[in-house]
Amino acid sequence: MSKNLLFIIGTRPELIKVFPIIQQLKKIGYPNYKIIATGQHKDLLTTYWKVFDITPDYELEIIKAGQNLTQLTSKAIVAIDDLLAKIKNEFSPDIIIAQGDTTTVMAAAMVAFYNQIKFAHIEAGLRSFNLNHPFPEEFNRKVASIVTDFHFAPTDVSKKNLIAENTTLSKIHVVGNTVIDTLHYFIHSNKLAQTEFSNIDLKKNLANIDDKLVLITCHRRENHHDLDELINAIEELSKKNADTIFIWPVHPNPNVKQRVETSNLSQLKNIIITAPLEYLDLLKVLQNCKIVISDSGGIQEEAPTFKVPVLILRETTERPEAVTLGISKLVGMNKNKIINSFNTFNPIFSQDFVNPYGDGNAAKKIVKILQG
Ligand code: UDP
Repeated sequence: MSKNLLFIIGTRPELIKVFPIIQQLKKIGYPNYKIIATGQHKDLLTTYWKVFDITPDYELEIIKAGQNLTQLTSKAIVAIDDLLAKIKNEFSPDIIIAQGDTTTVMAAAMVAFYNQIKFAHIEAGLRSFNLNHPFPEEFNRKVASIVTDFHFAPTDVSKKNLIAENTTLSKIHVVGNTVIDTLHYFIHSNKLAQTEFSNIDLKKNLANIDDKLVLITCHRRENHHDLDELINAIEELSKKNADTIFIWPVHPNPNVKQRVETSNLSQLKNIIITAPLEYLDLLKVLQNCKIVISDSGGIQEEAPTFKVPVLILRETTERPEAVTLGISKLVGMNKNKIINSFNTFNPIFSQDFVNPYGDGNAAKKIVKILQG
């Protein structure tokens, strides 16, 4: 008898990275799965469900303005648990599946444990070894690991991290990162090539893009208080590189949005400050970047596919593979380091270079293992 799979998705990266698994289930005609959207990134995700052709079966509302992390966590746990109780006669999950390191993931893992349901963790074993960087994500993924029955680790580095925590070896499966499956899908199906920019600012300004773009993103909580270092670095870089266009899709978090939008940057001709980009717009920009400046986990993984180096706005990263290969560099939120590295960091990607984060077959492997 086939197992009932319950996916719990909260944020943008979770949807992007769960998508290929759902797609694989659709492809093989697997009927017994349901999807809960917790609403952790409700606004960021409205159009994404359509892009990925996924409709959640159940929607929760765990976000409330002014809510702190404790309140969010408790609300997520209670909301998921209540829903499980409510639907138990129509759908009783054998495995709960969540991806990454958000509050949604930690809550899903805890609810699975309390209800004695098996838990599968996608992107397992990432560690920065610093509970405050990223905050609270390092904590969230460590808690999830404690109760995980299926650790889907993206790389050998993440497998080693799990082994170092005495994880049972037979529970660890190195499958690659599903984000690469998603990328491959949009590249190989030609959807990326065939889609025009949907963002008006980009449509207007990027008619002839020629690998002269620089993408900037910044959203980590621990970086909010140093945002001026980044803003000042970008201002100086844009003045010194007049032939380059700097694109900064600003995260809706009020701590970031207000500071960036009210800075001098929007006055400068070669800077585009814009709302978060649709996934395909983001990929189109990435494809034409000469360098990325970002604290995003997903973008660190995606950029190597386009042979684009990343200056990582972090002191440490749980995705060290690209840094080890010399194609990404940790620069922190430090104006001088960002500027110096922008001017000097120019790694060469060999012709046969392959992305260290995956080969695009993770979802197939995950589905096979989950089916048992
Ligand atoms: N992303 C996007 N639009 C944007 C910025 C990011 O579609 O304006 C995508 C990006 O391609 C990546 C994911 O969102 O796949 C990363 O999300 P985020 O940086 O919010 O979270 P993290 O990966 O750091 O957890």
